[in-house]
This record gives sequence, C-alpha cells and structure tokens, in this order.
Amino acid sequence: MSRLDSFIRRLTAQKILLEDVTARLAGVEGPVLELGLGNGRTYDHIREILPDRDIYVFDRDLACHPSCIPDAEHMIFGEIRDTLAYCGPRIKGPAAFIHCDLGSGDPTMDLATSSWLSPLIDLHTAPGGYVLSGLPLDLPNFETLPKPEGIRPGRYHLYRKQ
Ligand code: SAM
Repeated sequence: MSRLDSFIRRLTAQKILLEDVTARLAGVEGPVLELGLGNGRTYDHIREILPDRDIYVFDRDLACHPSCIPDAEHMIFGEIRDTLAYCGPRIKGPAAFIHCDLGSGDPTMDLATSSWLSPLIDLHTAPGGYVLSGLPLDLPNFETLPKPEGIRPGRYHLYRKQ
C-alpha cells in the first residue's frame, strides 16, 4: 500500500472512531484529553462533535493550524510523560475520553511510549470512560472493544474502563 493510501486510511479511521466514541459518551461525565495536537486536525474534529466538553490538549510543540490553537487553560505544553502525570490539579476530574495520537513510526520508540503511557491513561480515565489510541496500550482495568466496520485490524485500539 502506498504511503498516500495508508495516510488516507488512517485519517478515515480516526474520523469514524472519534464519531463512534462520541455516540457512546452520553452519561459519562468528565473532560476529553487529546494527547498529540500535531496539526490540530483531530482536536478540531473533537471540538466540533463534542462542543459541550472541556478538551485539554497535550503536546511538546505548537505546530498546528492557527485556527486550531487551544486557549491557554486547555493547552498543556511539555513532555506528556511529565504533564499527564502532574495535570491533576488543572483538569476537572477524570476524563470521559482520552484520544492518543502519539505514534512515531519507530517500533522501539512506540513500545517505550506504550509502556509509560498505559498507567497514566489508567490513572486519568473515569470509570466507564473510553480510550482511543493509535498505539496498543496495556490496560488491565479496561475491556478492548470491537471497532466499527471498515477499520483494519491493528490500525487503532478502542478501550473502555470497567
Ligand atoms: N492528532 C494530530 C492531528 O490530527 O493533527 C496529530 C498528532 S501527531 C501524529 C503527534 C504529536 O504528538 C506531535 O505533534 C508530537 O509533537 C506530539 N508528541 C509525540 N510524543 C510526545 C510526547 N512524548 N510528549 C509530548 N508531545 C508528544
């Protein structure tokens, strides 16, 4: 598959899955955490489909489209390994939904990221809350959910905290 095809499939999967999680979120209290602002595409979509949620965005850089810069209260700069560990006083309670888009494309780096990220995700997800991640995570307190039709196996991972 060409890199163009792969990119198109990735963005299509993100859109389908973000909308799938949104449809499940009724009744789950809490903010949304967007891990990896990047260009701001998924942040922009999340704020469009979840307009009533507080969305906290994490990244070490600010490289997004100018229309997608979160306000200062909701943009959390720095290494996510540090900022996610210590963001407790700033975010308003455990998250109803965490979206992680931190894949580097390097398998060793991605394994390391999954390893430190998984316990932090567990710590910050509300009971009944959802996690959507491009990297597989080790989340023993969560069930792995089937994905909607059309998403290739291994492309994205959907979890719900018990
Ligand atoms: N979801 C974004 C979008 O739709 O435009 C794309 C995110 S991009 C693939 C990944 C982003 O995560 C990059 O902006 C990178 O700076 C950030 N990132 C990756 N690992 C990080 C880490 N350990 N701490 C902070 N930011 C990180």
